Amino acid sequence: MDFLARQRKLRERLSKSRIDALLVSHLPNIRYLCGFSGSTGLLLVEADRSVFFTDFRYDTQVHDEVKAAKIVIGRKSALELLAEFLSRSRKHRNVGIEAEHFTVANRKRLQKSLPSRVRLKDIASMVEGLRLVKDEQEIARIRDAVNLGARLFDRALQVLREGVRESEVAAEMELLARRSGAEAMSFPTIIASGERSALPHGRASSQGIPSGGFVVCDFGVILASYCSDETRTVWVGPVTDQARQVYQAVREAQQAAIDAVRPGRMLGEVDAAARKVLQQAGLKQYFTHSTGHGVGLEIHEAPRVAEGQKDLLRPGMVITIEPGVYFPGKWGVRVEDMVVVTASGCQVLTPTSKEFLAI
Ligand code: ZN
Ligand code: ZN
Repeated sequence: MDFLARQRKLRERLSKSRIDALLVSHLPNIRYLCGFSGSTGLLLVEADRSVFFTDFRYDTQVHDEVKAAKIVIGRKSALELLAEFLSRSRKHRNVGIEAEHFTVANRKRLQKSLPSRVRLKDIASMVEGLRLVKDEQEIARIRDAVNLGARLFDRALQVLREGVRESEVAAEMELLARRSGAEAMSFPTIIASGERSALPHGRASSQGIPSGGFVVCDFGVILASYCSDETRTVWVGPVTDQARQVYQAVREAQQAAIDAVRPGRMLGEVDAAARKVLQQAGLKQYFTHSTGHGVGLEIHEAPRVAEGQKDLLRPGMVITIEPGVYFPGKWGVRVEDMVVVTASGCQVLTPTSKEFLAI
């Protein structure tokens, strides 16, 4: 990972802002900029260098992982070490903090221990803005995570039957994930059957899978720091016409959204493409969430693929396309792929078939 190049881009943004250094506190942003994967640390990005602060528990890990930053380790907390550093250094006046992540309590604590010449300024999404567009190494890692994620669904199909508990299916998928090198699941695996398939976020429960309904399987892994996210929906039992029709409509909506992904297009247009297909099928009111989201170091990150979003698609963005239709108290369908925006359109990363599947 080219941490120096990432920091260089951040410095370009710094030079155009009203701050002379940015305090990065959000762990995925820290990982993005210097490689640290632990759970306590702060990174100060200055105009000419970066300094990483953490406590002694992370001594070995920091020296293994942290690149492109001077390291300050002590017996005090990272925040105290940072405060001392800022108090000693004469050059700082306006230090940006990540307003969406730095807590009010930490802000008060830090301000109290700083000389009055140092001011803390709220900054929004500066590193997230860089993370929007993935570099080649990131896309390669995401591809690996997506491919491993897809294998979990193959495993699910081996065990998913009427009467089997949802949690049993999830457990088999998660066991394979860990055995295959995943650090963790990117979120609690969703296996939602029967009426529960109408809940967009129905975590696997101890319920046995009933016949005569859909099972929504939404799952992902974290592999080498990067997340995957995929949904497939299968039918269990004798198939009804309505099940086939609704599934087909969701699939067409998903394809229409994929076809709408192109650099220069507004994200809201991708959402609108999916919604239009479902409207024509008379199902628009049952599509109750947005079409997708960015994926990378975090399972949900910028950009949002949602109604009215005016931000433009750019090559290198990685997003999900996941329209769904949910009939409360009955069942639901969702199909989700990850795609990477290319120079002329997009490439679908998720390799799993989207044919209607009945078990
Ligand atoms: Zn998902
Ligand atoms: Zn998703």
